[in-house]
This record gives sequence, C-alpha cells and structure tokens, in this order.
Amino acid sequence: SLFIEWVTGAFNEITGYDPSYVGSMATLKDTHPDDLDRVRADVQRTLQNQPTVTEYRVFNNRTRNYVWLSISRRPVWDEQEQRVVRFYSVAKDITERKRAEDALRQSEARLRSLVETQTAFVVRTDMDGNYTYCNRPFLQRYGWVKADLIGTSYLATILPADHEKTRQTARACLSSVGEPVQVMLRKPRQDGGIDFTLWEFVALRDAEGSVSEIQCIGFDISEQVRAEEALQEERQLFIGGTTVVFKWRVASGWPVSYVSPNVCEQFGYDPRQFLEDGLLFQSLIHPDDVERVTAEIRDHVRQGRSQFEQEYRLRHGSGDYRWVYDFTTIVRDAEGTVKHFQGYVQDITERRQARDLLMEQNRLTLSLQREKELNATTQRVIATLAHDLRTPLAVIGSAKEILSRYFDQIDPEQRRERLETIGKQLQYVTELLNDLAQVTGASLNQRAPQLAPVNLVTLCQITVKDMQASVAAKHRLNFTTDGTLHTIIIDDVLVSRILINLLSNAVKYSDEGSEIRLELASREDRIVLRVIDQGIGIAPEDRARIFEPFYRVQGVGDIAGTGLGLSIVQDCVSLHGGTITVESAPGQGSIFTVELPLSRA
Ligand code: ADP
Repeated sequence: SLFIEWVTGAFNEITGYDPSYVGSMATLKDTHPDDLDRVRADVQRTLQNQPTVTEYRVFNNRTRNYVWLSISRRPVWDEQEQRVVRFYSVAKDITERKRAEDALRQSEARLRSLVETQTAFVVRTDMDGNYTYCNRPFLQRYGWVKADLIGTSYLATILPADHEKTRQTARACLSSVGEPVQVMLRKPRQDGGIDFTLWEFVALRDAEGSVSEIQCIGFDISEQVRAEEALQEERQLFIGGTTVVFKWRVASGWPVSYVSPNVCEQFGYDPRQFLEDGLLFQSLIHPDDVERVTAEIRDHVRQGRSQFEQEYRLRHGSGDYRWVYDFTTIVRDAEGTVKHFQGYVQDITERRQARDLLMEQNRLTLSLQREKELNATTQRVIATLAHDLRTPLAVIGSAKEILSRYFDQIDPEQRRERLETIGKQLQYVTELLNDLAQVTGASLNQRAPQLAPVNLVTLCQITVKDMQASVAAKHRLNFTTDGTLHTIIIDDVLVSRILINLLSNAVKYSDEGSEIRLELASREDRIVLRVIDQGIGIAPEDRARIFEPFYRVQGVGDIAGTGLGLSIVQDCVSLHGGTITVESAPGQGSIFTVELPLSRA
C-alpha cells in the first residue's frame, strides 16, 4: 500500500483533496473508472523502479467535476532494502488541453469524413439567384439539369419543397454579410432520386465594398442522412412522394427527350417507350386537362418565367389516370429561345383523394346538420299542430253529439248555432292543415330524389359520430361496413333522414349502456343498411302499424315522440325506390333493414 507523505497546496487545489489525507493510505476511489487500469499498471511499473507518466481523470470533490491530470512519477530506490521506498509525483492540470484536443478531434473527424468522401460543391449566385459560377464537381453532378447552368436560377436544381427555405437562407446571409448560414437542401437527381446536400451561404463584398454575390459551399450528405434512421420518417414527410423527371422538347406533341429510370416503378412505363418509340408527353395528359396545361405553359413562356407548377392527370402505363403535381422548369438557350421543358412530376393521387374526402366530409356534415334541424323542426311543428287540432275536434265532436242526440229537443235556432260552431271549427282545422302542408309538404314528400355521387361510408361515419356526440356516454354507437361500397349514386338528404330517424329511435327505445349498430353492406344490386338495437322491441301487432303517421305503441307515452319518425323514413325509402323491414320482439331488440337500389359512381 502507498501512504501519502506530503502534498503541495496546488495539488489540493487541483484535486480538491483535503490536506488531512496526508499520512493516510492512497486510494483510487476518485479515479475515473475508465482510467483505473492504466493508473494501476503505471504505479506498478514505478514500484519496479521505472519513472512513469499517466494522463487520467480524477474527481474533484470540491467542484464535483472530473479534472484531467498528467502525473509523472519518479521512484526512489533504496539500495539496502532493494526496493522502491517512495516516489515523487508531479501533477499538472491538463483539463483545458484535453478539452481542446477533443474538440479538435471531433471537428477534424467531421471535416475529414466530408473531405475524404467527396469534394465540395462551390457555386456563386447573383442577387437574383442566378448562377454566376459553378465548380466542376457541381457541374458534373447537376449539369444534367442544363449543360451550362450559368445565368439560370439556382432553384432549378433544388426540390420545389425547399425553395422557400433557400430564399430564406439567402435573405439571412444577406442581412449579416460575411457570416456563413447553414442550410440543408434536397436536390433531384437525374435518376429521380433525391440528394441531401448541406450548404453554407456567405454574402460576399466586391472590390467597391457592395454585396453582389452569394457564395455557397455544399456537400452531398445523402449517405449520412440515409444512415440516420431517425431521419427516415421525417424525410418521408418532407418529400411526400417520389419525383419522376421528364424532359420534353418544344415540338408537336412534346416528344420526351429524357425520363428518369424510376418512371417504370412510379408510372408503369418502360423508359424506352419514350425514347425509342417516341411516346409524346402530351398524349399522356388527360384529354380534359391537356388544353388547360398547354395554355398555361404557353402563358408562362410568354411571360418569360423560368418555372411554374401545375396539377393534372397523367396516364399510367396501366391506362388509369393518376393526379400529378408537376414542377416545370423552362430551359432556354443563350438567345432566350425555349429549347425544352423539364418537369419534376409527383403522383399526388392519394393526397388529392385525402383532400377530396375531407371536402366531402365537410359537405356531408353540413347537410346532415341541416337535415337534423329540419327533421326536428318538422316534428315539433307537427306535434304542436296535432295538439292544436285536438281542441277544435273536441268542440266539433261535442256539437255533433248534441245535434244527433238531442236533435228533436232543441229549437232550430240552437241547431243552427251548433252547425255554425261545427262550420267555424272545421274552417279552423282546414286552415291549420293548410299551414301544416305549407311547412312540411315542401320539405318532405314533394321532393324528387336528387341523385349524385356520395361517399356513403363517410355519410354513415359522420352520422354515427354526430349521434354518439349527442348521446354522450349513454349508448355505444358502432358502424361497420363490408367495404364493398364507397362512392355511389344516392340522394344524401334522403339517406341521412333515414339514418337520423332510425338511429334516434334506437337510442330512444333502448336502455342506457346498450350497443347500437349501423351496418352497411351490399347485396347484388342493393345497398343494405341495418340499424340494430338491444332495446324494448316491438310486439307483432304493432310492427305492422308503426310506419303509419302518428302511430305510437301504447305504453311508450313517457318517451317523447310524435309517431312521425318512421313514416318519414318510410317516405324517404319509397322515394328512393327501396324497401324497409323490421324484425323485432318485445324485450329482444329490433333490427330495421333498409334496402335501396345500388348504382355505382
Ligand atoms: P316516435 O318515436 O316519435 O314515437 P316513430 O314513428 O319514430 O315515432 O315510431 C313509431 C313507434 O314505433 C314508436 O312510438 C315506438 O313505439 C316504436 N318504435 C320505433 N322504433 C323503435 C325501436 N327501435 N324499438 C322499439 N320501438 C320502436
């Protein structure tokens, strides 16, 4: 064991040792665990009479940090005892040096990896973002965009999604001249892939001291980016689809002069079909879009623009049309004559479908809302009127009673009075019924079905969701579909009236907590909608009558209702050329099945 005999104040300072350690046994408890083996080995060598130097970390108990020490040990050999009896250690704090070395090593490693793996791209642009200089590596990599990039916009070599970012970086470096600003930019490759490049933009002053150029130095870091799994997902999000590169010449029908190899995977074409068989780009554009696309291109050329974006349908190799986003660059020669167009084309069919679905959802939600309100108003108006009819009818009833029973006992004057009462009340009833017809007639029965393509699944989903929201946690509403129906031709107003009324009955006539299910399926040429509940059920004698207006089953008096819901459903179903049936038994729940003719969009 080693005993500490003496230490200087400076040693205490560096290591945070307490001077009382002097005279005690030296321990390695404060030595960094990773350095223990080296320290032990070097101490052993010193004990064998060899001077040693060790660089290691010691925990400073005062600052609670590790400090790097360089300790050189000089042994003292005792001839008599034939052993090392003590050694002098001189320690130096080398923490600063170590830190600097580390930083250097790291930045060296980073730079070395970039420099070793590739050469830097160097480009300069003017204040309009046009290239004034491109070094050879840049031209070799991106010269495919245009053999001579000088004078063209730097945006032509950058993925459209990164254009705004590029402009921002240019603005940032112009606002602090001489300061480098970093940015990662994605560049389309000739094969349709994407390069990830890291750039440093610096605004440069010319001889007169004014800023006229931005110098950009960049590295291709695609390898590094691809290696970083964490970025994968983000990349997907950013790119949002693969770009296929098309170049077409200014000639009749737009002959394709170049197409990236991934055209096969994305659009199902063999690249040779374009280049050898002379497939024309114009012939791939949907007949309904070709005129618009051509006119737009003509306008952009006339306005002297160099880039523009458009959306249109492009024919897939299978014959289907796909919606595409096309970012086109107009390539001109030195005289300014348009030579060809270069489009970065992305399939956005799914994206558009998602967008359309959202719009359809919004439209159906609105129409459902209107129907719900109308349905409620209609029923309320009718309920009030039905109530108001009872009084005149009671008066008519009693007048008629008196007349028929006491006809001979009462005098002609009294008879005329009774008849007049009946006449007045009848008139009142007629007026009431006219009002009723006014209010409801137009909105209900006298409506011809208005057929249009509607996503029935969406309609069912939002109706169920809406109903669920209004009953909160009292019932569980579920929607299932066999997946055979999506966009079909129906009258969405009629169908939503059917659904609203059947679902709200299911809710009204079943216990809290029970399940209510809406099922959508197709059977041959029929749409089958089923509303299933586990409620109170309906007796056989009532089943035949519940579709009559105002018919309500005896004993449901305390559940609010007009007896009109199912007759409205019946009307809507008939208007739609369909049928409605019910399977039910008291206490066994009910299944209402609506079948409508199916015609696909
Ligand atoms: P309301 O519900 O306003 O009374 P409806 O025409 O919708 O009028 O229904 C008529 C009658 O049919 C209801 O009063 C009720 O007795 C019965 N009924 C309708 N749906 C159900 C159901 N899902 N379960 C049990 N009974 C029902």
